[in-house]
Amino acid sequence: MRFWGTRGTVASPGPRTVRYGGNTPCLEVRVEGAPPLILDAGTGIRGLGAHLVQSYPDSPLHLVLTHRHSDHVLGLAHFGPLYAWRSPITVYCGDGESTSLESFVRQLLSPPLVPYIEGMTTRLTLAEWGEADPLQFGSARVQRCTARHPGDAAVLRVDDAEGPLLAYAPDNELIYADTSPSVIAWRESLARMLHKIPLLIHDATYRDEELPTHRGWGHSSSQEATRFALECEARTLVLFHHHPDRDDDSVERMVEAAREQVVHAGANMRVIAAWEGLTLGL
Ligand SMILES: [Zn+2]
Ligand SMILES: [Zn+2]
Repeated sequence: MRFWGTRGTVASPGPRTVRYGGNTPCLEVRVEGAPPLILDAGTGIRGLGAHLVQSYPDSPLHLVLTHRHSDHVLGLAHFGPLYAWRSPITVYCGDGESTSLESFVRQLLSPPLVPYIEGMTTRLTLAEWGEADPLQFGSARVQRCTARHPGDAAVLRVDDAEGPLLAYAPDNELIYADTSPSVIAWRESLARMLHKIPLLIHDATYRDEELPTHRGWGHSSSQEATRFALECEARTLVLFHHHPDRDDDSVERMVEAAREQVVHAGANMRVIAAWEGLTLGL
């Protein structure tokens, strides 16, 4: 799998973010026996599109959106295969919003947001996706679970024929400070779904000290992400959805602190922070 965008909330290019990247979420996942799978359509999808047009022309493409916030969809109009592809491109997203996926995506790809371009949406198929039905693409299977985040947002788990490969939770408020039974039950059921996951990619927008002023904003701290990954017994944790103000040095300090937290817990889980271009084999 490869990270094409790692930044949360809004694209943040510039000299302070060159190491970890300024593009918003987009992941490419390759499973043997399955067509390329794309998770989210943030600004990082532009680079992925150019790569696909060059290297894998005309394979059917499946794009799964965790939710419809701008940082996860604004790259779609700049996705090269929309303009030069013979095979279908299918976009999946949860069905829990009041606007249909069809009208949402059509609006995203129309004036006044973008200029009208003949044929831009002709390759697209839009599929609303209920929580109970996993998606199957050849040997790859994608399941969703409800994230704690404003609107209808998902945590995704991708499996191959042999079992779980990775979990992707870009926007998810773990909210350990809330000890109400419903929150604890939700977090425990999510941890069961992700038990012993080889790779957990999790929201680490904040640091613990920033949480009290951002309750209900739908994001976690890196300390919470680490605690949750330990509870899941994940093999590797990837800190993701970096805050637009988090410069490269502070992302590195965040990773060091997470590694100390793992040692303190007596575990040997690997922790890294996602950077643009990071490729991981599973
Ligand atoms: Zn986001
Ligand atoms: Zn969001």
